[in-house]
Amino acid sequence: MKRSYRGIVTVLLLLVPIANSRKAVHVAIFLDDDGDDSELSTIAVASALRRTTFVQVSDFTLKPHIYWTNKDDVLKVGDTVCSLLENQSVAAMFGAGSPEINEIIQSTSTALHIPYFQTFWNTKLSSYNDEFPVFNLHPSPDVLSKALATLVRINAWKTYTVIYEDDDGLYMLQEALKQRSPTDPPVAFKKLGEPGKGRRSVLKEIKSTGVLDFILDCKVDHIFDILREAKEHKLLSEYHSYTLTNLDAHTLDWSTFRDLESNITTFRLVNTTRRMVTSTMAEWTSVLGYNDLIDVKDPVLNNELERLRHKTPPVTVNANKVRVKTMLLYDALNLFLTVLAEQDAKQELNLAPVSCDESTPSLHGRRIVEAVRQKDFKKGVLLDPLTGPISEFSKSGQRLNCQLEVMEFAPKSVTSSFRTVALWKSSSPDQVEFEVTSTSREEEEKEVIQGKNFRVVSRLGAPYLMQKANPNNEFRTGNDRYEGYAMDLMGMICKPESLNCSYTFYLVPDNNYGTYDPEKKQWNGLIRELMDLKADLAICDLTITYERKQEVDFTVPFMTLGISILYAKAVKEPPALLSFMLPLSLDVWLYTATAYLVVSMIIFLVARINPNDWENPHPCDPNPKELENIWNIKNCLWLTLGSIMAQGCDILPKGISTRMVTSMWWFFSLIMTACYTANMAAFLTMERMGPTIESAEDLAAQNKIQYGCVKGGSTAAFFRDTNFSTYHRMWVAMESAEPSVFMASNKDGVKKVTDSKRKYAFLMESSSIEYETEGNCDLMQVGNLLDSKGYGIAMPMNARYRKPLNRAVLRLQEMGELLRLKDKWWKELNRGGQCTRDKDAVEDTAAELGLDHVGGVFVVLAGGVCVALVIAICEFFWNVRKVAVVEHLSVKEAFYKELKFAMNIWARQKKVMSSPSSREISLN
Ligand code: ASP
Repeated sequence: MKRSYRGIVTVLLLLVPIANSRKAVHVAIFLDDDGDDSELSTIAVASALRRTTFVQVSDFTLKPHIYWTNKDDVLKVGDTVCSLLENQSVAAMFGAGSPEINEIIQSTSTALHIPYFQTFWNTKLSSYNDEFPVFNLHPSPDVLSKALATLVRINAWKTYTVIYEDDDGLYMLQEALKQRSPTDPPVAFKKLGEPGKGRRSVLKEIKSTGVLDFILDCKVDHIFDILREAKEHKLLSEYHSYTLTNLDAHTLDWSTFRDLESNITTFRLVNTTRRMVTSTMAEWTSVLGYNDLIDVKDPVLNNELERLRHKTPPVTVNANKVRVKTMLLYDALNLFLTVLAEQDAKQELNLAPVSCDESTPSLHGRRIVEAVRQKDFKKGVLLDPLTGPISEFSKSGQRLNCQLEVMEFAPKSVTSSFRTVALWKSSSPDQVEFEVTSTSREEEEKEVIQGKNFRVVSRLGAPYLMQKANPNNEFRTGNDRYEGYAMDLMGMICKPESLNCSYTFYLVPDNNYGTYDPEKKQWNGLIRELMDLKADLAICDLTITYERKQEVDFTVPFMTLGISILYAKAVKEPPALLSFMLPLSLDVWLYTATAYLVVSMIIFLVARINPNDWENPHPCDPNPKELENIWNIKNCLWLTLGSIMAQGCDILPKGISTRMVTSMWWFFSLIMTACYTANMAAFLTMERMGPTIESAEDLAAQNKIQYGCVKGGSTAAFFRDTNFSTYHRMWVAMESAEPSVFMASNKDGVKKVTDSKRKYAFLMESSSIEYETEGNCDLMQVGNLLDSKGYGIAMPMNARYRKPLNRAVLRLQEMGELLRLKDKWWKELNRGGQCTRDKDAVEDTAAELGLDHVGGVFVVLAGGVCVALVIAICEFFWNVRKVAVVEHLSVKEAFYKELKFAMNIWARQKKVMSSPSSREISLN
């Protein structure tokens, strides 16, 4: 029977009310010939008409003209509308499925002012004014876009893509876009092509963007096809989230998506649990039960209802399966009935025919339109519309007030259907009322994790994750290959009393933490693994940064830290042999020696010209023939040397000028000796420290010690992005250093610090520095922390286990488990405390002076004595030669004689040489 409606086939459903005297009011109803809801639409119309029987406020009966149309019937519909208006005095029109059909009805309605109640989403109404006789009961695009915008905000979507099928959908979403503030996340629009190749390429493109959140706007019948194709493109994982704009999405049979992991959200206009809705649905069902609908004598309606009555499987009315347009049609008919009844009661409605050719507006139409606009009606049969209160229309006739239930797909539920999680009201568009308590949310989230095996990506780095020692070369797989802090942490989180889950560790292929490459426009390392949804979690010394947080989610930090400097401790150098020379620099020694010679020469010269230094050689002779000057070069050198050694001299100058020079030299000697003595003690006891740094500023201010950090980590990013000039200078220095100062891992950095003999400092995170300095006493942390941050467990965006994981980490923190775990890996398993003991041992002996420190002084003494002996031997031979000449002895005789005398240690006196000249033996 239904097929007989194909094309434009008029079906007259005439309800003849109780009294034949009632006026017939004709209405035209245009329905979409899409098959799905046509039967329910018939029932809805029949049920609405049946209600007129009980409306005793007026004396009329409705005579509906129902048309099933498709978009090719535009011209025929135009003719039909005109003929109905002229011949049947149609009082109002309802429905229209396709935009093409709507155009023609809408223009006729506007020209002749016939009320037209639309039940579909019409984006083309917004430009009309209030003269317009059209009322669209479908929530307006503006209203829906507000609801979407609120949902996006509440879900805290970072970035999302709008997938739409046709430009009408785009129109609505553009409205949503208009309301966006600059702080809202970026949104992309992708139009789906035709099913097949076109659509596939769009989905492929969407997949490559890595976006996880989508708004999907498409016809209800296309939803499943699109989702299936999305699944083929791996766009339907547990991390993906779709919000469907179609208000009929919940009416589909979702049982085939029982294993769906993505989060699907949609809106529902009708709260199917309301009493009014359930009773109406019961009424719809009972409509089929009346063999003879009221006292309708109309054979066509009865035939249609008869067909539905005997249909197999029988027609069932389930509120959750009724499409919005059917509900709206029922509400629209009731609205019209109410207004018509009241207007009719007030004044005789003159339902005169109107002609398309004359274009004379209908008077009754104007009255009804005004009544609806000004809400000039009591509720009447419109006690409680199925789709919520219908009281406000915009100037262009768009319905403004509505309530939408926010529904989430619950695949694990018995019926695999949607459940209401929140309520959105057009009266308070910026918020939703949650219907699900946080406790039940927590329970659900926990359920998601129960028994889940997490794929955990990590990287090797002590003590977070290390390869287990394998002395027997056993074959090991899975988690058995690794150990470390990260492994233990995951173990504690997954305990049965906590999240009761399991996990499998694997190593990130490129061994990177995760950094964005602006050239390739992609991330690497752990972050990339998460973004590609290859891993569920990433655990190691992974720092929470703003940049990373835009792409992945983090738990609360399980460890707090900051950047600091790892540097090698000063090595105690063995003292040099000539360390007594260290208090004065080489320059000073050279200048002092030069001054010594110059001053000695000056004394010599000044003494020669100073008469007071020319003395009588024989004091007993008052008139000596000659005067003598004792200030020969030898004595001058002796005087200055004796002074600087603080020993003085047995002869002293007598002239004022010579005394002046001498006293200046003494002053110089005093200061120099005092400085030397003061510096000596410090220098002999002090360790040779080499170049020393105490802070990052010290590092930045010098270029002898190189410094670097892990390549592509958050530490490098800190220096790269800083606004602080010192750190920026450090970044420039690091970047320009040749060879590169960036290390592939902390391990390499530590090795370089150890090997470089204090020529390299490594900028590293304090927790890792703590670990290294605990086990290696040659290393130390220099300076304070340059910043403050934390390590967190990373996971893909939208991960449903984020909150339970957060709670688990917090619980471990509060119970002190994290601290205990740190102690285990930082101290107990890391030779902890050893460096403190070593230090004490060193300090005990630090004040003693060893032979090493003063050895040079002994050497100088020995050297000086040796030189003195050599001089003594020379003097001895010189004297032997003199004795031989004076005493006319052979050299040999003279040598033995003098040697014999010298060896006789008891001899106290020596004879003078017999020659007169020999009496002048000088004591010198
Ligand atoms: N923990 C750092 C990161 O997550 C590595 C570093 O830069 O020291 O990138």
